[in-house]
Amino acid sequence: MKPKKFLLPESEIPTAWFNMQAVMPNKPLPILNPATREPLKPEDLYPIFCKASADQELNTTDEWIPIPEEVRQQYASYRCTPLVRAYDFEKALGTPAHIYFKNESVSPSGSHKLNSALAQAYYAKEQGITNLTTETGAGQWGGSLSYATKKFGIDCAVYMVKVSYQQKPYRRSIMQTFGAAITPSPSMSTRAGKDIITKNPNDQGSLGCAISEAIELAINTPNCKYSLGSVLNHVCLHQTVIGLEAEKQMALAGEYPDIVIGCFGGGSNFSGIAFPFMRHNIRDGKKTRFIAAEPASCPKLTKGKFEYDFGDEAGMTPLLPMYTLGHTFKPASLHAGGLRYHGAGVVLSQLMKDGLMEAVDIEQLDSFSAGVLFARSEGIIPAPESCHAIAATVQEALKCKQTGEEKVILFNLSGHGFVDMSAYDSYFSGEMQNPKLTDEELSRFIKSADELNK
Ligand SMILES: *Cc1c(COP(=O)(O)O)cnc(C)c1O
Repeated sequence: MKPKKFLLPESEIPTAWFNMQAVMPNKPLPILNPATREPLKPEDLYPIFCKASADQELNTTDEWIPIPEEVRQQYASYRCTPLVRAYDFEKALGTPAHIYFKNESVSPSGSHKLNSALAQAYYAKEQGITNLTTETGAGQWGGSLSYATKKFGIDCAVYMVKVSYQQKPYRRSIMQTFGAAITPSPSMSTRAGKDIITKNPNDQGSLGCAISEAIELAINTPNCKYSLGSVLNHVCLHQTVIGLEAEKQMALAGEYPDIVIGCFGGGSNFSGIAFPFMRHNIRDGKKTRFIAAEPASCPKLTKGKFEYDFGDEAGMTPLLPMYTLGHTFKPASLHAGGLRYHGAGVVLSQLMKDGLMEAVDIEQLDSFSAGVLFARSEGIIPAPESCHAIAATVQEALKCKQTGEEKVILFNLSGHGFVDMSAYDSYFSGEMQNPKLTDEELSRFIKSADELNK
């Protein structure tokens, strides 16, 4: 029998996260205080974030950051996650490529997001914080933080984008099961929410607005901090457990990836699978290609601009140097809700600018056709976000079919799609379309970032 799954025991759960900031050739530009335009110091972030997260965010020197034992202990309920050789998927594609995937869908929340949620909830508890606030779009981050805070005895308040609150009742139920309090956003409970509702009573909400509301509540509530599930450097840091495990598992398989692929919302799962391998490109002359797969209707890496912008719609975050579509960007409604974000993480944006990674746009229908082929081959129904990574994998595997090259492709299966079956319904019924994004819309939204860079 050919070995299919490459498993590691609990004792192999990494003991430290890998900090890309310490290794990258060009450090990211400083994050700026929007009022003074001065580079941010960790202390400036303390009113909003837990101290450990703030320190990690701006840590450009320590290559390895120890993972607290309590966090490793929680990781042990689902890590090390399997690395799997997708033989039947290879066969369905008729490709000579060797396709591997790292299966992050086996976590209690069904996605990679728990890797950072557990770390952030632990640091909150350690600092004596009693409440965390956050936002959630499709509900995956909210579900992960709800579970993680429960584990560490912290109360959790989630602002959920209104349209998802209405359209994804099961994600709401998951958060309730884990004991979180959920408010549809925009809401009347914050100034940011009130402003938006006053302008448009039927506003359906956006991630940017929900972030503004969650930050506002954190700033105004004693012993309460805000927690973010993507984009920021410390979140990408926590996700590196994915790639560190995968590195050992690829060695068990006796191979090394020529191509590493992840879907891309704000960049955390992509960082997680890519950074540990990327350090060998920087240090040891490896030539692996790293491909971020983003939706064609939210193309910050391929069509965005590298400049300073806010991380949220209302402009409450510091100014981040990143590839952005403009903080007022309104992404088309898309089944891959986790990919509907206007910007890319700061470290990732610098790596993109320096040519250490590449990006590809995936149309929604192509993502689902790839996801369905994968499900029929491997027996796992992927999250709509993960379908983008699978579609990029298909593109590369088909190139190998033409050239006959036996390339080794590794992609991250960031989550499963069991709570997204309505999206699959829409695909099978033929109702699903490719959301359109015109050049005129692109240049209109990007102006909101251009204004900040004058
Ligand atoms: C949130 C999410 C993503 C996108 O977020 P990143 O920070 O870019 O990883 C991708 N896949 C799944 C399953 C998600 O829940």
